[in-house]
Amino acid sequence: MRKNIVAGNWKMNMTYQDGLALISEITNMVADEVTGSEVEIVVCPPFPLLHAIGKQLPQNDHFHLGAQNCHQKESGAYTGEVSAKMLQSVGVEYVILGHSERRQYFREDDELLSQKLKAALGAGLKPIFCVGESLETREADDTNEFIAKQLQNGLFHLSNEEFDQVVIAYEPIWAIGTGKTATSQQAQEVHAFIREQIARAYDAEAALNTTILYGGSANAQNAKELFSQPDVDGGLIGGASLKSRDFTEIIKSF
Ligand code: 13P
Repeated sequence: MRKNIVAGNWKMNMTYQDGLALISEITNMVADEVTGSEVEIVVCPPFPLLHAIGKQLPQNDHFHLGAQNCHQKESGAYTGEVSAKMLQSVGVEYVILGHSERRQYFREDDELLSQKLKAALGAGLKPIFCVGESLETREADDTNEFIAKQLQNGLFHLSNEEFDQVVIAYEPIWAIGTGKTATSQQAQEVHAFIREQIARAYDAEAALNTTILYGGSANAQNAKELFSQPDVDGGLIGGASLKSRDFTEIIKSF
């Protein structure tokens, strides 16, 4: 059966010192809350903090380390880049791929993302693959078509075994960092649609077993309602993952 996950995407925030302080607060606050629960918490700090933050995470089934990106090549003369294998070697288990900020600001397209997915899976990382429409697309009533295309072109080239390792995050661009969350009904509709697409591309079992996260202004106030939707299996949290109290409340929202 699929897992419930709350992932914190710190984006380009936090120094080494701030990150260590934040993670120590989070692990202290969360400690008792998750005993007996099944929730997985994935902390995704920027590259320079990964190793140190990973060392601070409690050694249990609840806490996992994630990166925010990786390069598509295994190694070589790519100044400034970080490979999936390097991430794996410092204890990273998950990697966010296809975030709308990477698609928009770094021109990452479906072709490149396909290569990054292969690289991540090849190094034993679990991709958190993001999809999501712009406000323009939603208002034109093209959301489903747009999401179907992102899945088809970016993700569904994977084999069944590869796809088993993937978590999907639905992040409507208009909801990211705007304080404008999708309603639980809007989120549920798209999540159910994504599950249908998985069933078509793979099979019903794959659809049932894939964790689909919601991201976009999720916070301590709206997480419970969002997570109560049948096809919403948790969240990919930006802003609210930088505040220990808010992030802990979100984790407690299942
Ligand atoms: P916010 O939670 O800040 O809207 O960001 C969502 C996001 O982009 C997570 O990847």
